[in-house]
Amino acid sequence: MTADLIIDRIETIRVPEHPNTLWVQVHAGGLIGLGETYYLPGAVESVIHDLAAPLLLGQRAYDRERLWADVFAHANFFGHAGAELRGLSALDIALWDLVGQRLGVPIHDLIGGKCRDTIPVYATCANTPLYDDQTASLNRAGELAESLLAEGFTQMKLWPWDRFAPQRQPRGHTGPAGWSAVGQPGHRLTAADLASGLEPVRAIRAKVGDRMAIAIEGHSRWDLNSALTIARAVEPFGVVWMEDMIQPTSAADLARFARESRVPQAVSERLFTRWAFREVFEREAAHIAMFDLIWTGGITESIKICALADTYHLPFAPHDCTGPVNVLACLHLCAALPNAMIMEVVRGFVRGYYLDILDRPIVIRDGQAVLDFAPGLGAKLHPKLLARSDLARRVSVA
Ligand SMILES: [Mg+2]
Repeated sequence: MTADLIIDRIETIRVPEHPNTLWVQVHAGGLIGLGETYYLPGAVESVIHDLAAPLLLGQRAYDRERLWADVFAHANFFGHAGAELRGLSALDIALWDLVGQRLGVPIHDLIGGKCRDTIPVYATCANTPLYDDQTASLNRAGELAESLLAEGFTQMKLWPWDRFAPQRQPRGHTGPAGWSAVGQPGHRLTAADLASGLEPVRAIRAKVGDRMAIAIEGHSRWDLNSALTIARAVEPFGVVWMEDMIQPTSAADLARFARESRVPQAVSERLFTRWAFREVFEREAAHIAMFDLIWTGGITESIKICALADTYHLPFAPHDCTGPVNVLACLHLCAALPNAMIMEVVRGFVRGYYLDILDRPIVIRDGQAVLDFAPGLGAKLHPKLLARSDLARRVSVA
């Protein structure tokens, strides 16, 4: 094997204002590859430095399959889902970035070239400093749909029933952006709450008709019966999909939900690895593969999930709400693979804090992400970010 692109340093980076996000920089051959993950970064940092770094340092960054399998074998000994997979996901993206930079090609060209030059994006209605889209999605959904259409968005996602499920947020805990307080799944949905939740859906159809596709998010807040009640209520409105209405802990129960409702099911950002998706596809529990690339195993694993979905004649629609590197990595998959359907974005993040994190913007025009990238991932951490004195860094060296 050549001695090119040997991994000699792995560093993790955190900033105070994004307490859920962890960036990783993998150094090899004088280049720096960038990765990212989201949620409980302290635990992920430990996985990266204590478990993965000893397996990666001194190895060739090209050998992504072998390194993924090495880390996974160790991580999986104690159960892989969670911080282990998030750490592996972040590292894996950084390795692809390194190889692309070394060879002078964007990551999509390493995967399979280009199936398209743009991909539609949809607007997830989260509140951000720039837009109160979540509030608007509950109180003035028709006007919001109209304004999104004017920008070129033709699909929006909202979660009008979350507020009626049990709420419990641990003190000091900042959950993923856009989530309501996460409690145990609800076991009772009143007729009044069902009707209130349906109001925004009705308002969108009344204002803009079928020009706006509507996706319903459930954040796994309901038991099967309540989820079915919601599904039957939205069915006449022709929603494009529902996602995570129940906990994705049982492929059999997801399949029952898919069978007993007539709404397409997007499954699920909360599934880890191709093996979890295999169960779901085999049981006919999903219509759309919705993985989160920075949770489920990075680019290496997501390619396999996309191919698996394709063998079942299903499209994929990657999850966001988690970070700018995630979006970029997903866009490379959307460029390279035939069964890409649509990409999730939060417009207030793309036009807001993502610009402070990366040195290049994610370009969206008329509701389409433009798939035109510099070699590798196509962006680095912003020099202004790296110059800050309040970064929390941890470093492992060969
Ligand atoms: Mg979701």
